[in-house]
Amino acid sequence: MKTISILGATGSIGTQALDVIKNNPEHFRLGAISIGRNINRLREILTDFTPHLVSVQDESVVKDLTSDYPHIEFTYGEQGLLDVASSSCDILLTAIMGSIGLKPTLKAIDNKTTIALANKETLVAAGDIVMRRAKENNVSIIPVDSEHSALFQCLKGENIKEVEQLIITASGGSFRDLTREELTHVTLKDALNHPNWSMGQKITIDSATMMNKGFEVIEAKHLFDLPTEKIQTVLHKESIIHSMVEFIDNSMIAQLGNSDMRTAIQYAFTHPERLHKNNPLKLSELHQLNFKPMDFHRFKMLKFAYDALEAGGTLATVMNAANEFAVGQFLQGQISFLEIEEIVERRMMMHDNIQNPDLETILSLDAQYKSNMR
Ligand code: NDP
Ligand code: MG
Repeated sequence: MKTISILGATGSIGTQALDVIKNNPEHFRLGAISIGRNINRLREILTDFTPHLVSVQDESVVKDLTSDYPHIEFTYGEQGLLDVASSSCDILLTAIMGSIGLKPTLKAIDNKTTIALANKETLVAAGDIVMRRAKENNVSIIPVDSEHSALFQCLKGENIKEVEQLIITASGGSFRDLTREELTHVTLKDALNHPNWSMGQKITIDSATMMNKGFEVIEAKHLFDLPTEKIQTVLHKESIIHSMVEFIDNSMIAQLGNSDMRTAIQYAFTHPERLHKNNPLKLSELHQLNFKPMDFHRFKMLKFAYDALEAGGTLATVMNAANEFAVGQFLQGQISFLEIEEIVERRMMMHDNIQNPDLETILSLDAQYKSNMR
């Protein structure tokens, strides 16, 4: 029996993780959770589960919740996230959105808690620090992102020195069939309509801009510690092959599955074992799998991510923060779709890169570049 705590339990990944726990009561129990502002969804969760600790974003709701659920402890704000991260459990699933996940992730690592990592922004913002801290504490970071779960599974039992390249697949997002010119007039509603995956709003926009794939390249670099030139991306519109590894003897191993994040979440919880799950890929879906080379001109954000990796230092931190700001603006209807990448590019260009930054430098740049600077 493993106790699972969740940062971001009301989100898309959080909800699917709760499904996994609910479907396997003999294997998993829920520990502590954090949510943001979705109190209605929290109340639904509390009809099925009894976490011992719940963190909410706003202090104002704590009093009512405490009187309605006297047997549960409530906490709030950034300290609440740290409280959840430091409460004892076997695995902490980081399914919160954005770089706000960084401090709680480090806290859990210091507590020697295994991390099931969905919150990729944490590795983009501060991958060197997070991975170093995990190594020092002998803590495993198990990927939940479908591509990295795929790579992790393909690499199981393999010698990383024998890897020729990692090939990360990309569905192409909502606008994969549009030219750059056609992107000028796309709407928020169009952008939120992902062809294959149902996900939170921010990552759905990141998929449409291809920033998400850029984040995933950086995430792979930190998780698997390979030179950047060994991390490739390819367009694969079916999202059936979640990613693949080519070895030095020209063998390739791929991981396939349907577009159901619960498979990757469950594997992160059960690794190195597997548990039965009842949603198989139909073989008929394999009749036609398409692949297209990535186009760095069409998908400029992916190029920015490779640039940030090559530059090292704080450039990826700034890219992530600028993107969080710009996507927030787009979701509020303040800017157009193409302005997202304009803002990210402009903020990356204005930044004087700092090599080997400490955590304080990263947190301060994150706050600065996430704000409404002009
Ligand atoms: P959602 O937007 O659906 O959920 C985000 C969660 O974080 C919610 O529980 C939300 O709370 C909470 N949250 C957001 N901001 C704050 C805050 N300031 N303080 C406290 N809690 C906060 O996101 P997803 O589930 O889609 O994604 C979560 C992470 O997983 C992201 O990093 C994403 O990139 C990654 N990921 C997601 C995948 C997917 O399929 N969805 C696939 C691979 C990776 P509330 O809603 O209550 O306000
Ligand atoms: Mg992914």
